[in-house]
Amino acid sequence: MFSNWLWHEPLGLVIDAGEGLQLALGQRIWSPRTVALTHGHADHVLGLPGFIASRRYAKGAQDKPLAIVYPEGNAGVLAVRELVGRLWPNEAFPVTWTGVRAGDEFRLGKALGLRAFAATHGGTEPTLGYVVFEERRRLKPAFAGLAEPEVRQLAREGGRDALMEPYRHVRLAHSGDSMPVDPSVAAGADLLVHDATFLDAADRRREIHATASEALEVGRAAGVRCLVLQHLSIRYDRASAIPALREQVAASGFAGACWLLDDGRLTALNTGPGLWPEA
Ligand SMILES: [Zn+2]
Repeated sequence: MFSNWLWHEPLGLVIDAGEGLQLALGQRIWSPRTVALTHGHADHVLGLPGFIASRRYAKGAQDKPLAIVYPEGNAGVLAVRELVGRLWPNEAFPVTWTGVRAGDEFRLGKALGLRAFAATHGGTEPTLGYVVFEERRRLKPAFAGLAEPEVRQLAREGGRDALMEPYRHVRLAHSGDSMPVDPSVAAGADLLVHDATFLDAADRRREIHATASEALEVGRAAGVRCLVLQHLSIRYDRASAIPALREQVAASGFAGACWLLDDGRLTALNTGPGLWPEA
């Protein structure tokens, strides 16, 4: 609740940069290639100056480029960017800042990209969620019912391009601080990380954060394989909140694996055969 970030090691991606990011990463501070910021609230951006400075001044890959992607025009992010410039006026950092809007894309690698989508978090400042997609190829639906020898025969006759079509598979979707996101943005995702501030909608004063059951419904409707709930309010005692969450997951109809990310740790909210990753 006080400081937010998510480090996705296989993607080399950090989403949000709350205070203490560099302390949490330790020797891995040079691993991230990209930081994607969802919005400019203090608990999501105040870790950036320390993180950038640590990469510049600690022993290691000081020249490794870092790309920062953020909601274009967001005042909190721009204030942090200016702070870095003022704190170290004579230093050049290997950092690029790219402002994006909903629908914009940012290249992460050869077949990997980041796409921003609009999130609902109150106020007038631009707020985003992100999807990491991977470009893949699959059999065209018209050939989906054929047996493998027939598919091979068609490939010999017409070539692979006549049979295959490109598509985008969602590796990761991240809601940021947000009300429930449109499930279509996370359709078929390997992993959805979603705001779940409230156990009960009656505890919500303003429409700026989701409930756990809303997040579960997004995960169910999107058919994601793994759902990580995050940002659970500190008003809830964990000893009773975790059993309550497990009951909500069991009653939700969400068929994937579900975890709570809390204080830097993952806690399984359901277990069983077929869930991934195995709990
Ligand atoms: Zn916020």
